[in-house]
Amino acid sequence: MTAWDLAVVGAGPAGAATALGALRVNPALRVALLDRADFPRDKSCGDGIAPQVIDLLDEAGVSGIVNDRVPVPRLRLDRGSFGVDRKMTRPTWVVPRTVFDQRLVRAAQTAGATLVRHRVRRLVQGSTLILDDEVEARTLVGADGAHSVIRRALGLDPGPMAVAIRGYSPTPASRSGQQVIVFDTARQPAYAWSFDRGDGLSNVGYGELLDHRRDGPTRAQMLERLDTLLPGATDGGTDWKGHQLPLSTGRWRPPAGRVMLVGDAAGLVNPMTGEGIYYAVATGLAAGRAAARALAAGDPTTAGARCASAIQPLLGGHLRHVAVAAWLCRHGSVIDAGLRASAVDQRVFDDLVELGLANGRITTAMARGLVRELAGASRSRGLRRRRNDTEESPA
Ligand SMILES: Cc1cc2nc3c(=O)[nH]c(=O)nc-3n(C[C@H](O)[C@H](O)[C@H](O)COP(=O)(O)OP(=O)(O)OC[C@H]3O[C@@H](n4cnc5c(N)ncnc54)[C@H](O)[C@@H]3O)c2cc1C
Repeated sequence: MTAWDLAVVGAGPAGAATALGALRVNPALRVALLDRADFPRDKSCGDGIAPQVIDLLDEAGVSGIVNDRVPVPRLRLDRGSFGVDRKMTRPTWVVPRTVFDQRLVRAAQTAGATLVRHRVRRLVQGSTLILDDEVEARTLVGADGAHSVIRRALGLDPGPMAVAIRGYSPTPASRSGQQVIVFDTARQPAYAWSFDRGDGLSNVGYGELLDHRRDGPTRAQMLERLDTLLPGATDGGTDWKGHQLPLSTGRWRPPAGRVMLVGDAAGLVNPMTGEGIYYAVATGLAAGRAAARALAAGDPTTAGARCASAIQPLLGGHLRHVAVAAWLCRHGSVIDAGLRASAVDQRVFDDLVELGLANGRITTAMARGLVRELAGASRSRGLRRRRNDTEESPA
């Protein structure tokens, strides 16, 4: 049986970042990156890479990963007849996952990780950790995505889920150089997107929160909503691929011990936007470093606690704030107020982007803007009602 210091199950952004984090602390560690797929492999995703992801990778010694890609400077947010279109503080990137994930895996291999093609089915925890009677490890990280086998082996529930579908279609001039998000008014919370890749194609898609009281949308229904919200977005579309998104809650608690969970396996997708790559890379790096330090200290069982104390200051407060924001976004009137406040004040827009793409919080500017716009909308409704009453009353 092969014995490893650290076995990482799943070689997506969370898994590759885990290997990078560990090997940055101790390049001599024996790190296995196990994945059921051959790389490069596709992953259903909007392919939106926030600049904060690039910052994290830079800190971990991986630079230039998007240097040959076209930055996307603008973000447009629409709902019904109202929209806001602004330049972001820093541009984002749209990189197909066949490219992005492959680059991260390569970086992990260059750092010293061994990529192993293996579908993990079973974990046995004893004095060491054994996967499928074939792989032995002193520490383990589950980075195996939304339907994580490792999370199940730890007896943890997946939590709330969303579902989304994406494809690639030609970019019309009206959506060039932009990330466009159109919030649904018929089904909620849900939105369609079009993210310009900068090479003539856009990543287009539609996603919505799954409600356990009713059936989720079919593929045909999701494509119909996409085309309704972004007319023409499905024309010439290829590579349609759907997947579930395990959404974070404000109550996230990382497991203790020598087995850790990161990224989607840890139930970490932003519940307001569906972005998960920032969390995947942030938690992966933290878990890798924690494993390396626990091994160096001679006690692998402290890895989980070390990982938790590194992640808590980075994500703890943010996850609580974004859970509140996501709950508020179930009300169309709050989304409308958020868009109007963002149109009035660039600061509110920037704060919203930070909350949706990385680890921002609900700021004072955002809260004030929301309250002002909600109060304004309520006053306008009152005025309209009074006018209607006056018109209807007999002379
Ligand atoms: C339609 C859609 C759009 C999205 N858009 C965005 C976006 O624009 N920006 C953003 O930041 N996030 C987006 N997300 C979320 C993002 O895709 C995920 O959060 C991200 O992929 C999480 O990375 P990960 O490494 O945790 O998991 P994954 O990328 O899912 O990687 C998990 C890996 O584990 C492997 N694996 C699974 N099971 C096993 C097993 N039993 N044994 C071995 N290997 C296994 C898989 O092959 C895979 O390579 C979107 C998600 C969806 C579904």
